[in-house]
Amino acid sequence: MTRRRIILLGATGSIGDSTLDVIARHPDRFGVAALTANGQWEKLAQLCLTHRPDVAALSDPDAARSLERALAGSGVSTRVLCGEAGIIEAAALAGADTVVAAIVGAAGLRPTLAAAGAGKRILLANKEALVIGGAVFMAAAAQGGATLLPIDSEHNAIFQCLPQDYARNPGASGVRRIVLTASGGPFRTRPVADLATVTADQACAHPNWVMGRKISVDSATMMNKGLEMIEAHWLFGLSPEQIEIVVHPESVIHSLVEYVDGSVLAQLGHPDMRTPIAQALAFPDRVDAGVPALDLVRQGTLTFENPDHERFPCIGLAANALRAGGTAPAVLNAANEVAVAAFLAARIRYTDIAPACAEALSRLPTRPVHALEDALAADSEARAVARAWLRLPEAA
Ligand code: NAD
Ligand code: MG
Repeated sequence: MTRRRIILLGATGSIGDSTLDVIARHPDRFGVAALTANGQWEKLAQLCLTHRPDVAALSDPDAARSLERALAGSGVSTRVLCGEAGIIEAAALAGADTVVAAIVGAAGLRPTLAAAGAGKRILLANKEALVIGGAVFMAAAAQGGATLLPIDSEHNAIFQCLPQDYARNPGASGVRRIVLTASGGPFRTRPVADLATVTADQACAHPNWVMGRKISVDSATMMNKGLEMIEAHWLFGLSPEQIEIVVHPESVIHSLVEYVDGSVLAQLGHPDMRTPIAQALAFPDRVDAGVPALDLVRQGTLTFENPDHERFPCIGLAANALRAGGTAPAVLNAANEVAVAAFLAARIRYTDIAPACAEALSRLPTRPVHALEDALAADSEARAVARAWLRLPEAA
């Protein structure tokens, strides 16, 4: 058994917490090579004292200086890097084989691409990277010899239900379609008329999962499931018609694969991200994730329903963007990031999120993505359209 050295991008977030929890349970198997975050230097300093990485990186230069000062004289010899360049350097660090890509949003794209180019084993949580630049990202991973292991719970479930040699010849696998399950979030049964006045805290109060605030809002609008359709398209080479969404409020079945013979394989478990993270960290081995056993009798019932497209227009927007291809998913993602950030800052209403995305998609023409720059240009155009439509000030 080789001891895996882990680079954790987004170490101070929710996925970061879960990853470090699993790593700490298996010091014989896993060590921490690098930790990165945006500006939370105090938390990162604590994590450096506990996990003693070779490198720590913060995108905010002032925060990086504070981290450096906090670590001076602590007996920890962690090298501190700063800015996006520092995070990119950490993502491709030599002597570490595994990168957990858990930065939220488009900010994760370049670091995750750097890990792909460096041929790392990438445990992908940052779905936005694939949504923005799927074609570019998959090509970079293939060229760099990188391996992609999904830790988004649905995609990890699909990965576990596919044959191990699926990627070599998907066409011969007998897969008919996949079913992504969705909890329906906190507003599944709330009267639609109330949605205009819901608050950020209400949107972030997810019934089953504890997550960062951006993905929590995406779960409330179900844009998260839309982004996950696009993620599944790239990860598993499936057409939009092969990707189904079913609402399953208990979040026990994390997704399913249907084969041509009628067999349907599912992965079940408690809604705890440590399970998919541990599965991917140790793959192909299995390790204890600290997650209690699933008691089906106590669970009792599992229920399913079709998504309500009127209540959740973001699913349809994402499906359209996936079918349109090219820059459309990048446009959708960028408009959504702008709108969700504005909603979290109480500057717009919850019900403004979907129309802002629709506006960006209808205003901007879909162009092919030949290179990263094509996707990034669409991303910044969409941010401008969404900001204007939402009457937000220009970005600095
Ligand atoms: P979070 O907000 O809790 O954490 C985000 C992390 O990214 C933090 O460490 C933050 O410092 C870092 N970050 C934010 N902006 C940055 C920037 N500009 N530059 C560098 N670093 C930056 O988010 P999360 O819930 O942990 O989600 C992370 C990613 O994983 C998202 O893409 C999300 O969709 C995906 N994901 C999360 C969950 C979950 O359960 N939390 C499940 C599936 C997928
Ligand atoms: Mg998910």
